[in-house]
Amino acid sequence: MNIKDEGIVLKEMRFRETSKIVTILTKNHGKIQGMARGAYKPKSQLTVHTQPFSYNNYIFFKGRNFYYINQADIIDSFYAIRENVNRVVYGYYLLELADKSIFEGDESYKLFLLLRKGLKILSKLDKHFLKFILAYELKFISFLGYKPLLDNCIICGEKDLKGFKFNIEYGGIVCNRCSLVESNCEYMDISMYKAMKELIYTPLDRINGINISKKTMFKLHDIMVKYILHKIDRKSFNSLDVLKTLNGGGGELYGHHLGDD
Ligand SMILES: [Zn+2]
Repeated sequence: MNIKDEGIVLKEMRFRETSKIVTILTKNHGKIQGMARGAYKPKSQLTVHTQPFSYNNYIFFKGRNFYYINQADIIDSFYAIRENVNRVVYGYYLLELADKSIFEGDESYKLFLLLRKGLKILSKLDKHFLKFILAYELKFISFLGYKPLLDNCIICGEKDLKGFKFNIEYGGIVCNRCSLVESNCEYMDISMYKAMKELIYTPLDRINGINISKKTMFKLHDIMVKYILHKIDRKSFNSLDVLKTLNGGGGELYGHHLGDD
Protein backbone atom coordinates (compact mmCIF):
# COMPACT_ATOMS: atom_id res chain seq x y z
CA MET A 1 0.00 0.00 0.00
CA ASN A 2 1.42 3.37 -1.00
CA ILE A 3 1.01 6.34 1.30
CA LYS A 4 1.50 9.98 0.34
CA ASP A 5 2.44 12.50 3.01
CA GLU A 6 4.73 15.41 3.65
CA GLY A 7 7.30 15.29 6.41
CA ILE A 8 10.35 16.82 8.05
CA VAL A 9 13.44 14.71 8.77
CA LEU A 10 14.28 14.74 12.49
CA LYS A 11 17.29 12.42 12.41
CA GLU A 12 19.17 9.92 10.28
CA MET A 13 21.01 6.71 11.07
CA ARG A 14 23.10 4.51 8.81
CA PHE A 15 21.68 1.05 8.22
CA ARG A 16 23.87 -1.73 6.82
CA GLU A 17 26.17 -0.71 3.97
CA THR A 18 24.28 1.84 1.99
CA SER A 19 20.87 2.37 3.54
CA LYS A 20 19.56 4.85 6.04
CA ILE A 21 16.84 4.84 8.66
CA VAL A 22 15.30 8.28 9.03
CA THR A 23 12.96 9.50 11.70
CA ILE A 24 10.38 11.73 10.01
CA LEU A 25 7.65 13.87 11.53
CA THR A 26 4.86 13.69 8.98
CA LYS A 27 1.86 15.92 8.65
CA ASN A 28 -0.80 13.22 8.82
CA HIS A 29 0.88 10.01 9.98
CA GLY A 30 2.66 11.25 13.08
CA LYS A 31 6.28 10.32 13.71
CA ILE A 32 7.48 7.42 11.57
CA GLN A 33 10.64 5.44 10.85
CA GLY A 34 11.46 5.69 7.18
CA MET A 35 13.79 3.36 5.32
CA ALA A 36 15.82 4.94 2.55
CA ARG A 37 17.37 2.08 0.62
CA GLY A 38 20.66 2.91 -1.05
CA ALA A 39 20.70 6.45 0.32
CA TYR A 40 24.47 6.23 0.84
CA LYS A 41 25.21 5.04 -2.68
CA PRO A 42 26.97 7.63 -4.81
CA LYS A 43 24.44 9.57 -6.85
CA SER A 44 21.52 8.34 -4.76
CA GLN A 45 18.42 10.40 -5.44
CA LEU A 46 17.50 10.19 -1.76
CA THR A 47 20.52 11.88 -0.17
CA VAL A 48 19.08 15.38 0.16
CA HIS A 49 15.64 14.11 1.07
CA THR A 50 16.88 12.21 4.08
CA GLN A 51 19.04 14.81 5.85
CA PRO A 52 17.91 16.47 9.08
CA PHE A 53 15.76 19.61 8.47
CA SER A 54 14.82 18.47 4.97
CA TYR A 55 11.09 18.93 4.28
CA ASN A 56 9.62 16.77 1.51
CA ASN A 57 6.65 15.27 -0.19
CA TYR A 58 7.05 11.53 0.21
CA ILE A 59 5.52 8.42 -1.21
CA PHE A 60 6.03 5.52 1.20
CA PHE A 61 5.37 1.84 0.99
CA LYS A 62 4.26 0.77 4.45
CA GLY A 63 6.07 -2.38 5.44
CA ARG A 64 5.97 -4.28 8.69
CA ASN A 65 8.70 -2.30 10.47
CA PHE A 66 9.32 0.70 8.27
CA TYR A 67 7.82 3.15 5.87
CA TYR A 68 9.96 2.49 2.79
CA ILE A 69 10.64 5.71 0.90
CA ASN A 70 9.71 5.13 -2.73
CA GLN A 71 9.77 8.71 -3.88
CA ALA A 72 10.65 12.09 -2.43
CA ASP A 73 10.30 15.64 -3.72
CA ILE A 74 11.81 18.53 -1.86
CA ILE A 75 9.52 21.25 -0.51
CA ASP A 76 12.18 23.11 1.49
CA SER A 77 15.67 21.99 2.49
CA PHE A 78 15.91 24.81 5.07
CA TYR A 79 19.46 25.09 3.82
CA ALA A 80 19.90 28.56 5.36
CA ILE A 81 19.80 26.94 8.80
CA ARG A 82 23.18 25.37 8.02
CA GLU A 83 24.73 28.74 7.20
CA ASN A 84 24.79 30.03 10.77
CA VAL A 85 26.05 28.19 13.85
CA ASN A 86 23.25 29.51 16.10
CA ARG A 87 20.61 28.41 13.64
CA VAL A 88 22.13 24.95 13.37
CA VAL A 89 22.42 24.34 17.10
CA TYR A 90 18.96 25.69 17.92
CA GLY A 91 17.58 23.96 14.83
CA TYR A 92 18.80 20.62 16.10
CA TYR A 93 17.17 21.44 19.41
CA LEU A 94 13.79 21.93 17.67
CA LEU A 95 14.23 18.57 15.93
CA GLU A 96 15.27 16.87 19.16
CA LEU A 97 12.30 18.33 21.04
CA ALA A 98 9.96 16.77 18.48
CA ASP A 99 11.83 13.48 18.38
CA LYS A 100 11.95 13.01 22.15
CA SER A 101 8.41 14.18 22.92
CA ILE A 102 6.37 12.51 20.21
CA PHE A 103 5.84 8.76 20.12
CA GLU A 104 5.02 6.79 17.01
CA GLY A 105 1.25 6.63 16.70
CA ASP A 106 0.72 9.91 18.56
CA GLU A 107 -1.49 12.52 16.97
CA SER A 108 0.94 15.32 16.20
CA TYR A 109 -0.58 17.50 13.49
CA LYS A 110 -0.25 20.74 15.49
CA LEU A 111 3.31 19.93 16.49
CA PHE A 112 4.18 19.34 12.84
CA LEU A 113 2.81 22.77 11.91
CA LEU A 114 4.70 24.36 14.80
CA LEU A 115 7.98 22.70 13.78
CA ARG A 116 7.52 23.77 10.16
CA LYS A 117 6.81 27.34 11.21
CA GLY A 118 9.71 27.29 13.68
CA LEU A 119 12.21 26.12 11.07
CA LYS A 120 10.95 28.71 8.59
CA ILE A 121 11.50 31.54 11.07
CA LEU A 122 14.80 30.15 12.32
CA SER A 123 16.19 29.91 8.79
CA LYS A 124 15.98 33.72 8.53
CA LEU A 125 16.91 34.60 12.11
CA ASP A 126 20.08 36.59 12.76
CA LYS A 127 19.60 37.69 16.35
CA HIS A 128 17.38 37.26 19.41
CA PHE A 129 17.72 33.50 19.22
CA LEU A 130 16.97 32.88 22.85
CA LYS A 131 13.73 34.84 22.75
CA PHE A 132 12.65 32.81 19.74
CA ILE A 133 13.56 29.55 21.48
CA LEU A 134 11.65 30.55 24.62
CA ALA A 135 8.53 31.39 22.64
CA TYR A 136 8.89 28.10 20.77
CA GLU A 137 9.32 26.07 23.97
CA LEU A 138 6.22 27.66 25.51
CA LYS A 139 4.10 26.88 22.44
CA PHE A 140 5.54 23.42 22.13
CA ILE A 141 4.83 22.43 25.73
CA SER A 142 1.33 23.96 25.45
CA PHE A 143 0.56 21.84 22.36
CA LEU A 144 1.82 18.79 24.23
CA GLY A 145 -0.91 19.49 26.76
CA TYR A 146 1.09 21.22 29.51
CA LYS A 147 0.38 24.89 28.98
CA PRO A 148 1.69 26.78 32.03
CA LEU A 149 -1.08 27.97 34.33
CA LEU A 150 -0.39 31.54 35.33
CA ASP A 151 -3.67 33.06 36.56
CA ASN A 152 -3.62 32.04 40.21
CA CYS A 153 -1.87 29.77 42.67
CA ILE A 154 -2.54 26.29 41.28
CA ILE A 155 -2.67 24.78 44.77
CA CYS A 156 -4.90 27.12 46.82
CA GLY A 157 -6.37 29.27 44.04
CA GLU A 158 -5.18 32.57 45.54
CA LYS A 159 -5.27 35.33 42.91
CA ASP A 160 -3.73 38.23 44.79
CA LEU A 161 -0.13 37.10 44.83
CA LYS A 162 2.67 39.08 46.44
CA GLY A 163 5.25 36.53 45.51
CA PHE A 164 5.25 33.17 43.79
CA LYS A 165 7.30 30.36 42.35
CA PHE A 166 6.89 28.15 39.31
CA ASN A 167 6.06 24.55 40.07
CA ILE A 168 7.53 22.07 37.61
CA GLU A 169 5.28 19.23 38.74
CA TYR A 170 1.96 21.03 38.32
CA GLY A 171 3.06 23.37 35.55
CA GLY A 172 2.03 26.69 36.99
CA ILE A 173 2.60 29.31 39.64
CA VAL A 174 2.25 28.66 43.35
CA CYS A 175 1.98 31.31 46.05
CA ASN A 176 4.77 31.74 48.59
CA ARG A 177 2.81 29.96 51.30
CA CYS A 178 2.05 26.88 49.19
CA SER A 179 5.61 26.82 47.82
CA LEU A 180 6.83 26.07 51.36
CA VAL A 181 5.20 22.64 51.32
CA GLU A 182 5.54 21.74 47.64
CA SER A 183 8.67 20.33 46.06
CA ASN A 184 9.77 21.09 42.48
CA CYS A 185 9.38 24.86 42.92
CA GLU A 186 11.61 27.14 40.86
CA TYR A 187 12.47 30.79 41.49
CA MET A 188 10.29 33.15 39.50
CA ASP A 189 10.05 36.94 39.65
CA ILE A 190 7.57 39.34 38.14
CA SER A 191 9.59 40.04 34.98
CA MET A 192 9.95 36.30 34.30
CA TYR A 193 6.21 35.94 34.88
CA LYS A 194 5.34 38.78 32.50
CA ALA A 195 7.71 37.51 29.82
CA MET A 196 6.28 34.01 30.04
CA LYS A 197 2.73 35.27 29.71
CA GLU A 198 3.57 37.51 26.76
CA LEU A 199 5.49 34.83 24.90
CA ILE A 200 2.73 32.25 25.33
CA TYR A 201 0.10 34.47 23.78
CA THR A 202 2.10 36.13 21.00
CA PRO A 203 2.35 34.30 17.67
CA LEU A 204 5.85 33.01 16.93
CA ASP A 205 6.34 35.35 13.98
CA ARG A 206 5.32 38.43 15.98
CA ILE A 207 7.65 38.34 18.98
CA ASN A 208 9.93 41.05 17.55
CA GLY A 209 8.32 43.81 19.57
CA ILE A 210 8.70 42.03 22.89
CA ASN A 211 11.54 43.26 25.07
CA ILE A 212 12.97 40.91 27.67
CA SER A 213 16.27 41.34 29.46
CA LYS A 214 18.93 38.71 28.85
CA LYS A 215 19.03 37.81 32.50
CA THR A 216 15.30 37.14 32.55
CA MET A 217 15.51 35.05 29.38
CA PHE A 218 18.32 32.88 30.73
CA LYS A 219 16.42 32.20 33.94
CA LEU A 220 13.19 31.46 32.08
CA HIS A 221 14.93 29.16 29.61
CA ASP A 222 16.40 27.26 32.51
CA ILE A 223 12.90 26.70 33.93
CA MET A 224 11.48 25.75 30.55
CA VAL A 225 14.13 23.11 29.91
CA LYS A 226 13.55 21.61 33.38
CA TYR A 227 9.80 21.73 32.86
CA ILE A 228 9.89 20.09 29.41
CA LEU A 229 12.35 17.39 30.51
CA HIS A 230 10.16 16.64 33.52
CA LYS A 231 7.03 16.31 31.38
CA ILE A 232 8.64 14.07 28.74
CA ASP A 233 10.52 12.07 31.35
CA ARG A 234 14.03 12.68 30.02
CA LYS A 235 17.32 13.70 31.62
CA SER A 236 18.82 16.05 29.03
CA PHE A 237 18.88 17.29 25.46
CA ASN A 238 21.98 16.41 23.43
CA SER A 239 21.64 19.56 21.35
CA LEU A 240 21.73 21.79 24.43
CA ASP A 241 24.75 19.92 25.75
CA VAL A 242 26.47 20.78 22.47
CA LEU A 243 25.54 24.40 23.01
CA LYS A 244 27.07 24.34 26.50
CA THR A 245 30.28 22.93 25.02
CA LEU A 246 30.36 25.67 22.40
CA ASN A 247 30.03 28.22 25.16
CA GLY A 248 33.15 27.00 26.86
CA GLY A 249 32.02 24.08 28.91
CA GLY A 250 29.09 24.19 31.24
CA GLY A 251 28.87 27.94 31.59
CA GLU A 252 26.10 29.08 33.85
CA LEU A 253 23.75 29.87 31.02
CA TYR A 254 22.85 28.31 27.72
CA GLY A 255 22.40 31.42 25.65
CA HIS A 256 25.52 33.20 26.79
CA HIS A 257 27.27 33.18 23.46
CA LEU A 258 27.56 33.75 19.80
CA GLY A 259 25.94 37.09 19.25
CA ASP A 260 22.59 36.60 20.87
CA ASP A 261 21.99 40.32 21.31
ZN1 LIG B 1 -1.27 28.91 47.21
